[in-house]
Amino acid sequence: MRRVKNYINGEWVESETKEYGEVWCPATGEKIGEVPFSTAEDIDQAVKAAKEAYWEWRCTPPLTRARYFFKLKNLFETSFEDISRILVTEEGKTLDEARGEVRRMIENVEHATGVTTLMTGYNLEDIAQGIDCTAERQPIGVFGVIAPFNFPAMVPWWFLPYAVVCGNTYIVKPSEQVPMTQTRIFEVIDECGFPEGVINMVHGAREAVNGMLYHPDIKGISFVGQSSTARYVYKACGETGKRVQSLGGAKNFVLVMPDAELDKHMPSLITSFYGCAGERCLSGSVLVAVGDVYKELKEKFVAAAKALRVGNGLEEGVQMGPVVSKKHKEKVLGYIEKGIQEGAKLILDGRNIKVERYPNGFYIGPTIFDEVHPEMTITKEEIFGPVVSMIRVKNLDEGLKLIENSEYGNAACLYTTNGKTAREFKYRAVASMMGINLGIAAPMSFFPFGGTKGSFFGDIKGHGREIFQFFTDTKVVIQRWT
Ligand code: NAD
Repeated sequence: MRRVKNYINGEWVESETKEYGEVWCPATGEKIGEVPFSTAEDIDQAVKAAKEAYWEWRCTPPLTRARYFFKLKNLFETSFEDISRILVTEEGKTLDEARGEVRRMIENVEHATGVTTLMTGYNLEDIAQGIDCTAERQPIGVFGVIAPFNFPAMVPWWFLPYAVVCGNTYIVKPSEQVPMTQTRIFEVIDECGFPEGVINMVHGAREAVNGMLYHPDIKGISFVGQSSTARYVYKACGETGKRVQSLGGAKNFVLVMPDAELDKHMPSLITSFYGCAGERCLSGSVLVAVGDVYKELKEKFVAAAKALRVGNGLEEGVQMGPVVSKKHKEKVLGYIEKGIQEGAKLILDGRNIKVERYPNGFYIGPTIFDEVHPEMTITKEEIFGPVVSMIRVKNLDEGLKLIENSEYGNAACLYTTNGKTAREFKYRAVASMMGINLGIAAPMSFFPFGGTKGSFFGDIKGHGREIFQFFTDTKVVIQRWT
């Protein structure tokens, strides 16, 4: 049984806490480790180290800072498989899904190395006669990320490489449910030889989070998690005057038009809903059949969902793993119960799935509700599991209305062969990440990641070009030399 440690000032250290959480393998249902619920004092130690390291790191030329990330990228390639396997063990997704995640993590490192062109400001001579003006981008200080359970490797790296390459120093607080993956990643950071204190990690839950939110020397926070927590983080950062980007939950609608090429796109539709066992902020959740596509779509979708092989993600051929924890499994089962109570028709029931050799794993099989109404709880709330709600609408307008009425606005997808319909959807759908004939609209590192409405609180989203603005302040210098 492994008890993970914090990484502060270039050293592995024990937390001050006496409280530990449990880490589980969702595929087997076995306890595999312990995680310290670090205290505000642990956070303070990390902030002190990051603050101490800041000035020298800030004065290190950007290209030199980027070279650390070139080296880190190569080290990540060497440890790629190891990180992916640890990720599967504690989170539950399949090995291919984990590899895809780690690849996306590395892409952010690659993008961040463009700092010498991406961090630049601008200037104009003679704004008045003989007076020149320059807007320079400067780092700010100590930043931190608070991460969710579902992408234990990737999510902190939507932010960390950009913050650090810009000259800031950093603290990562991984999800207490999946602390092993970042611990392995930090072993690689340690090997890479960043100056002490530049990148730190503190494990924990609420107390560690509050330690970060209310620490006067942390200048900005990136958060990803449920919308209720995202709102709380956004509010706290407002109170304490921190920069903040706070990414919340999702309820994504996937519209299928009567002219869609169903056979061609069925694999992408199925992956949208059941990939990562539905535990993705970009997962399809409501399958909207537009017009007379309903009957054929239902038949083909149910058949493909039934055929999915559910099991331990480390095993060859498994297409869907378990959900992350026993508690989360109960939450998802609660939503299935609610769907039945509110009158939706359960046409594929994954509640009693048996996975050979793993009777204690946290499995839920592919589940589908038909005859779902827009006002039902399963249409409105984020389930975050392998549960699909099918809704019929007459036309595109009705489908767009469903998206508009949702509290969330992360992603929305459309399947069609008609360019005009696709354009109208893109133009009018109130969500920020759009998939056309694509079920998971996941922006790569050089495009912004984040939603709208209840899915995002803040101004600047994850990665993309704009992130360089989040991690720098614009200093304007106006000069006259006589
Ligand atoms: P969560 O909100 O429960 O936890 C996220 C982080 O917040 C964790 O580090 C946790 O320790 C901390 N936290 C949780 N409750 C807290 C509290 N009351 N006070 C202070 N800190 C608290 O989220 P989760 O269940 O780990 O992650 C799943 C959620 O993340 C889903 O809603 C999913 O949609 C969302 N998500 C969103 C995106 C996006 O891009 N918008 C990406 C990935 C995940």
